[in-house]
Amino acid sequence: MTAPDLATTGPPLRLHDTRRGRIEEFTAAHTVRMYVCGITPYDAGHLGHAFTYSAFDVLERLLRARGHRVHHCRNVTDVDDDIVRTAAERGVSVADLAARETAVFERDMDALGIRRPGSEPRATEVIDAIITAVHGLIRRGHAYTLLDRRVYLDVASVAAPAFGSLVALSEQDRLERFADNGGDPDAPGKRHPLDVLLWQPPAGTPGEPAWASPWGPGRPGWHIECSVMAVEELGATIDVHGGGSDLRFPHHEIEILQSELLTQQGPFARFWLHTGMAGLDGQKMSKSKGNLVGVGELLAERPAGAVRRYLLSQHYRDDWSFDPQGVAAADEGFRTWTDAAFEPGRDLRLEATFHAALADDLDTPSAIEVLDELADAGAGESLIELLPLLGVQRSPRQG
Ligand SMILES: [Zn+2]
Repeated sequence: MTAPDLATTGPPLRLHDTRRGRIEEFTAAHTVRMYVCGITPYDAGHLGHAFTYSAFDVLERLLRARGHRVHHCRNVTDVDDDIVRTAAERGVSVADLAARETAVFERDMDALGIRRPGSEPRATEVIDAIITAVHGLIRRGHAYTLLDRRVYLDVASVAAPAFGSLVALSEQDRLERFADNGGDPDAPGKRHPLDVLLWQPPAGTPGEPAWASPWGPGRPGWHIECSVMAVEELGATIDVHGGGSDLRFPHHEIEILQSELLTQQGPFARFWLHTGMAGLDGQKMSKSKGNLVGVGELLAERPAGAVRRYLLSQHYRDDWSFDPQGVAAADEGFRTWTDAAFEPGRDLRLEATFHAALADDLDTPSAIEVLDELADAGAGESLIELLPLLGVQRSPRQG
């Protein structure tokens, strides 16, 4: 008896789309175009990053197992306010800081068995395309230039409400979140407080990079970078757009607005998937709070498969809090899998239950329970078959 072919007889894949606010069947052409917002390389990878990228890694693995080709694009925001400021504080160049932090991040993701995306564009590699995009927005009346050479997206220039497609917020909440995420609601000369900076002249920070443009030397704003990289790499309509739930507003709603204005097509993304926030002691894990748990620290103590099991033991959409006891339990559970993988048994009924769990909006906690049952049953062949779908490497990390 052979296992069913997931590509032809697997259960329908259902995913939660943030925009529609519900779980729906996901269908796509042979190639699935997926864009996931990447890191700003100024702090090394922490567990929040690992959580988000391991969830999208599982999605990519599942889509591939279902017979799709996946064009997965994850950008690197290698120029923005945070990285310029951090480089100046440390007395290093922006390029060196970005290269070093990107290397740390890639080392951690590789160790966790997270597949490298098919394309990883850097913002600094697409400056010409960004300038063309900004120019097009100005020409079509959706952006304006101030005397000091700042260029803003004119959010009131669109007929439909500019924001509110991914998360319902009051205007006051929008203004606060905009300011908290590098926005400048009170900057002089703006037509609307939520107008988005597309291009800015150097602020005078030492070492700040600048590129020539029709508006003078400067650099792009954060949000236009992602719009341009997504459209350049994947086209006007992408199948899956992902990122942390903290990016819904302003980043993703601005991305939608800009991208649809640029391409004059919609929807920009067919499915929006958002991952929950990692926390520590009741607070969101973030650089600004100084409460990051590093991936490298955890990998020094535990095998990668155990860390991977720990991350996937929370559903991707849930907010969660780091718990060292949970990691210890995940390590024990992981070791039962690696031990049982030497047993010759197979259980097709449980394998089908596993596939049904993953197809149900990537229910990895339930999928992990099924793997535990398979380990109890000595179904080693099933474990060898299924563990790669979760990106769990069986052998403990060497060295
Ligand atoms: Zn982005």
